[in-house]
Amino acid sequence: MATNRTFTMIKPDAVANGHTGAILDDIIKGGFKIVALKYTSLSDAKAGEFYAVHAERPFYKDLVSFMSSGPIVAAILEKENAIEDFRTLIGATDPAKADVGTIRNKYAKSIDANAVHGSDSDENAQIEGNFFFSAFERF
Ligand code: GDP
Repeated sequence: MATNRTFTMIKPDAVANGHTGAILDDIIKGGFKIVALKYTSLSDAKAGEFYAVHAERPFYKDLVSFMSSGPIVAAILEKENAIEDFRTLIGATDPAKADVGTIRNKYAKSIDANAVHGSDSDENAQIEGNFFFSAFERF
């Protein structure tokens, strides 16, 4: 059943480059309500756990080391059709292929340092939200 919620991270590249405020602004202007928000970081082990589904992919090691390279912002977002609409807002995984005006088009430089994460299903949104937030941290 659709939860109307998705999970996002503003990745280390976008945080380090000072895009956190602009990206949150795009998210809010895109019609999403922020129901949980956290400025934090991932250890190597935690990043490995978060991306375990990609463990067999050739880029897994680089992805884990990039995602633990600096602070991130994690959030749970609410909107009707949240999963699909958020993936439209952020654009394609490879920023070179992301539509003009999308978050990855505006703020990402490469396929690995691609500014933001967005859940790909309701099930994963729930798992990923639970990875970062307790019941007391969502509204
Ligand atoms: P997403 O759902 O759009 O984030 O894309 P995926 O779930 O397919 O991949 C997860 C993350 O792995 C992406 O956001 C990228 O940061 C990274 N990634 C995906 N494909 C590649 C690749 O071909 N090379 C590298 N270096 N990283 C990749």
